[in-house]
Amino acid sequence: MDKKRVVIIGGGLGGLQCGCILAKNGYNVTIVEQNKLLGGYIQSYKRGKHILDTGFHYIGALDEGKPLNKIFGYLGLLDLPWLRLDNDIADEVIIGDKSYYYASGIEKFGESLKKQLGEFYEEIDEYCRLLNEVKQQIVPSLRRNDPSELFSSEYYTTPAYQYLKNKIKDPLLIEILSGASLKMELDPEKLPLYIFAQVNSAFIQSGWRIKGGGQQIAERLSENIKNNGGTVITGCKVKELLDKDGVVTAARLENGSIIDGDFFISNAHPSNTLDLVKENKLIRNLYRKRVKNLANTGGMFTVSLLLKEGSIKYQNYNIYKHKEKSSWDNSFSDKKNGVSSVMVSFLPPEDDSEYTRIVDILTPMQMSEIEEWKDTSLFKRGKDYEKFKLDKAYECIDFISDRLPGLKDSIEKIYTSTPLTYRDYCGIEDGSAYGIRKDCNNLMLTMLTPKTPIPNLFMTGQSLMIHGVLGVSMTAIMTCSELLDKENLLADIGF
Ligand SMILES: Cc1cc2nc3c(=O)[nH]c(=O)nc-3n(C[C@H](O)[C@H](O)[C@H](O)COP(=O)(O)OP(=O)(O)OC[C@H]3O[C@@H](n4cnc5c(N)ncnc54)[C@H](O)[C@@H]3O)c2cc1C
Repeated sequence: MDKKRVVIIGGGLGGLQCGCILAKNGYNVTIVEQNKLLGGYIQSYKRGKHILDTGFHYIGALDEGKPLNKIFGYLGLLDLPWLRLDNDIADEVIIGDKSYYYASGIEKFGESLKKQLGEFYEEIDEYCRLLNEVKQQIVPSLRRNDPSELFSSEYYTTPAYQYLKNKIKDPLLIEILSGASLKMELDPEKLPLYIFAQVNSAFIQSGWRIKGGGQQIAERLSENIKNNGGTVITGCKVKELLDKDGVVTAARLENGSIIDGDFFISNAHPSNTLDLVKENKLIRNLYRKRVKNLANTGGMFTVSLLLKEGSIKYQNYNIYKHKEKSSWDNSFSDKKNGVSSVMVSFLPPEDDSEYTRIVDILTPMQMSEIEEWKDTSLFKRGKDYEKFKLDKAYECIDFISDRLPGLKDSIEKIYTSTPLTYRDYCGIEDGSAYGIRKDCNNLMLTMLTPKTPIPNLFMTGQSLMIHGVLGVSMTAIMTCSELLDKENLLADIGF
């Protein structure tokens, strides 16, 4: 029997995971990625002999038996060079000039914080209960036939910040518990409690870096797709989805070639996905307008520092530093406030040295801060832009210098990325770090499910349900469940 053909638009993490799952399950998969490099926000790039990461820096909950471990096992990703962060300190959160340490494991995290603080016992226990509860919900959430049924749950309809304020009296404890949350946009009115708790729960269970760059994940998924008879095309954009009688029949690429298919999955931003379908009676103008008008989260500014050999010791944990003011105000604030929150990540040494060669500093950046260059393209943004980036890089370096003395003198080279870099390298709308901004007051509108009004066109990726490597992996399973027997797939994964 002829295999059913699936064409996947975009070879980011979500597209590649869908490709891998479907190719393993007998589909004839073709992935088309517009960039030369696969991976989107998990791609890494080389400068000299050094590998630098684009977006993703670490993942949570890869311990044996945990959901991501099972998913990565199924996708053949577990033998990549994963490195577990320290047990006693996986994250250091600095507020003002005081450090607090996150231990790995929810119970250990709670016990350690109680010891460090000497108070807040009940509130920390309550927060750990929440982290444990959402942890239990991952597999049931995948079992739902209609993911939107979840939206009536209190976890989705409550703003995370409101929950924290209701449950926790001392503002300092709210700061400490939110202090490692630059991995999401801390919007005090909109961010659903479920996303806040699920992301934090996973990273608190355990944190993992990959030695040698995120690109290896993309390459491994691509290899697995090819080994199962699939095709991976890079450096070519899908320009249009052609349809007949309401269903999509083919993808037209920018080089003019046409790829026929029975099913289509888009890993592109939902708004860009709709642009690919020119006219289709099933996609009403109202739906198009609704998706087009959805706001995206802000972006990130990343400073990658190439350090002199033997200058800064590798730290097997992350540092998050915030000014005294609430991270719920600082996160994704505009330029008027300057740098007020950063995440510092140390790239594992490329050899057996105890010193790192690359330190990344990430800070939120809104498009408004780089508005004047928004119509420019890569390498053509001019000297003012270069100066802006360098000034901002030094602002970040100065902000963290009291915690990392000697950092400034250790720098050999500085590389920077703004949301414009992410937009133009990774093809992500507005260079948004986490895709469509989910709003707990308006879930039906802001949390899209894989289905589209066209019966053989589906979506996947961070803009749908939850962002980040775990969120995108869960969404890939939901997307593939539209084409496969869901219970069989979950059983094969080990759920
Ligand atoms: C700075 C930063 C740091 C982050 N850190 C972490 C972290 O530490 N841990 C974590 O878990 N998550 C992190 N994330 C988030 C995580 O990286 C993303 O959620 C995830 O990688 C998104 O994957 P995706 O498949 O949804 O989309 P994307 O990575 O956006 O991939 C979409 C792909 O589709 C392609 N495409 C789009 N349109 C077309 C077209 N028309 N034709 C062909 N191809 C097309 C794009 O080129 C792209 O490759 C970070 C993100 C950023 C920005």
